[in-house]
Amino acid sequence: TPQLRNHLDRLAAEGVDVVRVVYPDLIGVDRARDVLLEHLPSACGHGLAFCRGVYATTPRGDVVDVAGGLDAGLPDVTVRPDLSTLAPLPWEPGVAWCLGDTTDPATGLPCPESPRDLLRSVLGHWSRLGLRPVIGPELEYYLCDPAPGTPAGWRPYAASSGDVYSAGLRGDPDRHLLRALRHLRDLGLGATAGNHEFSGGQFEINLTHSEALDAADRAFRFKAAVKELARAEGRLATFMAKPFNEEGGSGFHLHFSALDDSQRNAFDDPEGRDGLSDTARHAVAGILAHAPALAALLNPTVNSYKRFGPDTLAPWLIDWGLDNRSTMVRVPPERGAGSRLEVRLGDASANPYLAVAATLAAALLGIRDAKEPDVPLEGYGYDPTRSPVLPMSLGASLDALEADTELTGLLGAGFTSAFLSYKRDELQRFQRHVTDWEFTEYAYHL
Ligand code: GLU
Ligand code: MG
Ligand code: MG
Repeated sequence: TPQLRNHLDRLAAEGVDVVRVVYPDLIGVDRARDVLLEHLPSACGHGLAFCRGVYATTPRGDVVDVAGGLDAGLPDVTVRPDLSTLAPLPWEPGVAWCLGDTTDPATGLPCPESPRDLLRSVLGHWSRLGLRPVIGPELEYYLCDPAPGTPAGWRPYAASSGDVYSAGLRGDPDRHLLRALRHLRDLGLGATAGNHEFSGGQFEINLTHSEALDAADRAFRFKAAVKELARAEGRLATFMAKPFNEEGGSGFHLHFSALDDSQRNAFDDPEGRDGLSDTARHAVAGILAHAPALAALLNPTVNSYKRFGPDTLAPWLIDWGLDNRSTMVRVPPERGAGSRLEVRLGDASANPYLAVAATLAAALLGIRDAKEPDVPLEGYGYDPTRSPVLPMSLGASLDALEADTELTGLLGAGFTSAFLSYKRDELQRFQRHVTDWEFTEYAYHL
């Protein structure tokens, strides 16, 4: 096609001779295949064959028992590049990357496990309401320096500086943040600003808001790009929820609003209570009502639950508030075009597609049923006598997801069962593993 020709000519002119086709697996880790530029037309035509088992394989390569995986003989999925997402890679001269979409070659349909397609299907429900959700992702992460001889092998970057929260160069003597911001700009990921976060070695970079699929695409690539950049610096960037006992967790806050058919912010209503529309309040109510199940998707690791707790700036209770950072859903003070929710539940380890899809699904259920939330919480948001506590383990949130048939009805049976199998396998492996803490606590005295 002429479009493909244009892409090929442009890439060749930019000195690109390899295209890295990247797609998110079930847990949001990037999986890739490098394609020589001259083979891109055939990759776009009949597609590239990958093993569908990639949706059932842990990053360390263990195959998990997911329907359609090992039990089906690890069949193929077809991956087709989405050329609208092409971008040259600043850290790999001659290489451009683009996102890929998977289909089941037997049916020609999207795989139910595909995170990008799950989000598309939830967005289909929103468009039937005449609304287009807008998401602004905020991701926190730790940069780590090698620490040979320690059990983890890594410690927070520049930890000895002792400087936290917006510390500028004092917290970043090696100027990691400046390099990261410039890299992300060159990749076209819509990074707007970054700062040193509350803990030593912890950073946050804000991405601009855009329609939900584009925002999830950018958040997914952002994580891959930051990890790649850190690797090139001989460091580790980690988006795990709570990597260090002594330091705070890393959040994945979602700023969330929606546009109506006339491009107006459907969450804004100057006449409404607190300046919010009914739609916004119903969305809040849906998110609160489905929070225990949402946690399975927004807090998807064993480690995620160590981030929750009182006085952490991460949530602990299921509540909302007006410009209140101790609540799970905060309504930032701007109104008008800037009226929005900040869903603070998610941690940085979440698969961006699943986090966005699940949040939008829960909000949609609230809007459909015109659910009303309790009055917004004022003041201290960590009093468990005022609001219910979130599930405090992965097992509890997976059970909540399975029990929440309204939510799983929207996410689909194929996706839900693959996700639950994958995560229950992870949980079981953890439950059988003897940790350092147990040895330290018990071995000497018992
Ligand atoms: N690190 C906190 C969290 O885990 C958020 C801190 C902030 O408000 O930026 O959600
Ligand atoms: Mg932050
Ligand atoms: Mg935030």
